[in-house]
Amino acid sequence: MDLRRVEIKDLFTEKAKTMVGSQVRVKGWVRTKRGNKNVAFIALNDGSTINNIQVVADVVNFDEELLKKITTGASLCVDGNLVESMGKGQNVEIQATRIELYGEADVNTFPLQKKGHSMEFLREIAHLRPRTNTFGAVLRIRHNMAFAIHKYFNDKGFFYWHSPLITASDCEGAGEMFQVTTLDQENLPRNEQGKIDYSQDFFGESTFLTVSGQLEGELGATSIGKIYTFGPTFRAENSNTPRHLAEFWMIEPEMAFYDIKDNMDLAEDFIKYLVRYALENCKDDVEFLNKMYDNTLIDRLNFVISHDFIRLGYTEAIDILLASGHKFDVQVKWGMDLQSEHERFLVEQHFKCPVILTDYPKEIKSFYMKQNDDGKTVRAMDVLFPQIGEIIGGSEREESYDKLLTRMKEIGMNLEHYQWYLDTRRFGTVPHSGFGLGFERLLLFVTGMTNIRDVIPFPRYPKNATF
Ligand code: ATP
Ligand code: MN
Repeated sequence: MDLRRVEIKDLFTEKAKTMVGSQVRVKGWVRTKRGNKNVAFIALNDGSTINNIQVVADVVNFDEELLKKITTGASLCVDGNLVESMGKGQNVEIQATRIELYGEADVNTFPLQKKGHSMEFLREIAHLRPRTNTFGAVLRIRHNMAFAIHKYFNDKGFFYWHSPLITASDCEGAGEMFQVTTLDQENLPRNEQGKIDYSQDFFGESTFLTVSGQLEGELGATSIGKIYTFGPTFRAENSNTPRHLAEFWMIEPEMAFYDIKDNMDLAEDFIKYLVRYALENCKDDVEFLNKMYDNTLIDRLNFVISHDFIRLGYTEAIDILLASGHKFDVQVKWGMDLQSEHERFLVEQHFKCPVILTDYPKEIKSFYMKQNDDGKTVRAMDVLFPQIGEIIGGSEREESYDKLLTRMKEIGMNLEHYQWYLDTRRFGTVPHSGFGLGFERLLLFVTGMTNIRDVIPFPRYPKNATF
């Protein structure tokens, strides 16, 4: 009889009990093998779930050489009877009748021989780490969060908008951008002043990988109303922190006719939706991470979905930090860009709750943020989370052509480069708002991982782009 393969996740459903007594075929990688001279117990995993199916093989029925080669990491096809399990914590197991070995994993060289490797060690074998329980869980959650993001916005009538990855606008992260060029680096063309002649480059000007899809996203909002981007962004910032990557994914909704209050409401609802989605749809993986990695994870997730985020102004936050008497590495004073230590103090010690900070000094925020009447602050909003610090940065956008132009001149931007952006304010300008959520920062929160390099399959950071 030709057996149809079942995925291991399907053997952990209620329906699996109705399959007891039938023949099944599973395929996967060996997590562990133990046993004695009569029987071998093989824990098999195919990546579809955190759970392993137990395969029981009576030694007499199998070739001794074959059984020897079934070691941690080897890949198998197993046929057998699905039977009720005697063991604790599992409903069914497979009494093997036939085992085919797809690929061996040499016990002397397979790096994941034992359990409990450090995250640092696993980062060095990033090509194999998705085979571990922890990364399997993280990567399944990553998929589910990406899906939930599209679902959330689609259900709310947002349109998925593709901002370009290659851009000629270089303002936002000047000095932090990766250049894109086809010029011969050994033999750069020069103009009369001896400067590199970018008119000969592929696009006829110098170009970069985008640091954010927002400016182009605003064109979407001011035409088809409500859009979101969800794509990779690139920052050549040499910040070797556990919260920064050189290549990370960002979700940037942008909405016409939303003011900062609407923007905050959306951000809070969006994050709560995603956390709730993870709790409901990634239960096994979240529970695994809670058990093995961080036993306060589920409490933290439940806390976030059941509490209103605190909303307060930057100026009040500075007052709180100053009055706290807490000793910070970087001294607190009005006008400063808050460091992660300050953000985390507010969230973890003072309010013990996620915080949305608004109305930051204009000098430390981007040129496009709506200017307040005080002449000093802008209608920015950052969402600050426990363990993470800033998870979202956003604002109401300045919709006045004149104010925007004045600000851009003040900070010396190349206006010619941004005329396309300014034109959104020149013709039929509207109040509008948006924000950016760092996808990997969200994943840090939802998985309890502490280093951002551990929530993306191929982390890109200074001196690392191999695999
Ligand atoms: P930070 O101060 O933490 O560097 P930022 O102010 O540079 O953040 P924004 O430019 O507002 O961040 O980007 C929006 C969001 O993108 C941030 O709230 C954060 O979630 C995420 N983010 C920013 N830089 C990185 C990075 N290098 N790696 C991963 N995520 C990032
Ligand atoms: Mn930054």
